[in-house]
Amino acid sequence: ARLLHIRLERLQRKMEAHDMGRLSSYDHILDQELATFLALEFDYNPIVDDEIAFDIYPPPAATDRANLPPRPPVVTIMGHVDHGKTTLLDTLRSTSVAKGEAGGITQHIGAFSVPVPTSSDDPKTTKTITFLDTPGHAAFSAMRARGASVTDIIVLVVAADDGIMPQTREVLDLVKKDAGKVGLVVAVNKIDKPSADTSKVETALFAEGVQLECFGGDIPSVHVSGLTGQGLPELVETISILSEMQDVRAETDGQVQGYVLESKVSKGMGPVATVLVLRGQLTPGTHLIAGTAHGKVRVLKSPSGSSVKAVLPGTAAVVSGWKELPKAGDEVLSGSEGDVKKALTNRLRNAEKAAMMEDVEILNQRRLEEREQAEALMNSETIPEVEPQKEEKKELRIVLKGDVSGSVEAVEGALQGIGNHIAGVKIVSTGVGDVSESDVLLAKAVDGIVVAFSVNIPRSIEALAVEKGVSSLKSSIIYELMDLVKARVIDLLPKVV
Ligand code: GDP
Repeated sequence: ARLLHIRLERLQRKMEAHDMGRLSSYDHILDQELATFLALEFDYNPIVDDEIAFDIYPPPAATDRANLPPRPPVVTIMGHVDHGKTTLLDTLRSTSVAKGEAGGITQHIGAFSVPVPTSSDDPKTTKTITFLDTPGHAAFSAMRARGASVTDIIVLVVAADDGIMPQTREVLDLVKKDAGKVGLVVAVNKIDKPSADTSKVETALFAEGVQLECFGGDIPSVHVSGLTGQGLPELVETISILSEMQDVRAETDGQVQGYVLESKVSKGMGPVATVLVLRGQLTPGTHLIAGTAHGKVRVLKSPSGSSVKAVLPGTAAVVSGWKELPKAGDEVLSGSEGDVKKALTNRLRNAEKAAMMEDVEILNQRRLEEREQAEALMNSETIPEVEPQKEEKKELRIVLKGDVSGSVEAVEGALQGIGNHIAGVKIVSTGVGDVSESDVLLAKAVDGIVVAFSVNIPRSIEALAVEKGVSSLKSSIIYELMDLVKARVIDLLPKVV
């Protein structure tokens, strides 16, 4: 709607009129055919560019899921403030240090995996659970906003001496929204406290519609103390059983897909990011892209700081080797070096276009404000005496050409804002397509210049321009074009001697 310069409601009405469905959200993505049709309906002439649409996406999920290897469940601990989330995570994290690393300090990297004790002590059958320890973090809102749910199970912590509080309800609402996709385990916490009343809390939860096992439902509730560690083995086991029922599996070969949980610039390692892998196997040497950051995996580190050779689905590790710092919440994908480069180019181009549209909107807003101020001044009773201008305003006359009408309008808007009361820009004509002979002749006639945005000036036309003494400016970057035009307008100002 923004590109077509219309209100979203108008676009919606048009779609309804043609039985093209409803927009489900503000960032609803239209397919190429629909987008083309709508652009034509609003008198735009769209150029379909398949190159821009290119990006790397994971292959479709294998149809035979049952044959995929199981992966550790990803668990988020949520609940009301002060009900003990941090304490619980700290205690769980300290039990996550793998055997042989005894005494090793586990660092906070955004996630950690806890081993689940199994009957056999064969390390190959050892299962783990991955806990995310950045709830409420920007990464989570970013992932949720794009509908990515990385969490398989939510552990709702409720303090046994406090009961249901506002944020407890928020978590329950969240689980309801994700109904079926995310499992729920209730952890009634702080049972070491004399004032703890677990059955009161459970009754209250049941009254809120939480079908607890102890009331014949299917939602397990475990009594724990994050402080003393009491009940934590039961909590881990309960999560493990639930995840077995959910049957979480993922392919360990093929393209890597994951999410950035945290990122920072580390001394000596450069930009590093904690990546939660959801599919594929992350190994050193893998080419990655996340948002507009890319790199080749150099070192993979576990939360205890030791190097790992591979990160499997359902686990996280600190990844170094990024050329830029990736943003928390961004999706991570692997690809060949060429694919990553191509995707990066396209993403940067799209980001630039989005920034350009924003820029133009700011400029338009500013112009609107200026006009309002001017009108207010005219309407006020005390009109200030204006010095009659000695000289007429100088103007840089422009014949503007661009690649599509939307961008021509955008560039026109941006260029018109350049200048002051002494010298400014006047757009003489606008058009779509390469610079032509008539553009040059028009510029010559009005003593102006030709400005080309994202279009070509054929060599013969350039020769004609030189012959006629018409100069031209060309760029596909709006800021650059604005700077070039600004320089020309400044040239029109009276010289300071
Ligand atoms: P959060 O805001 O949910 O992360 O809660 P915290 O983990 O910061 O805990 C809030 C307060 O409750 C702190 O003073 C903790 O020491 C205390 N606390 C947390 N868990 C327990 C517990 O199991 N028993 C007792 N007695 N206190 C706890």
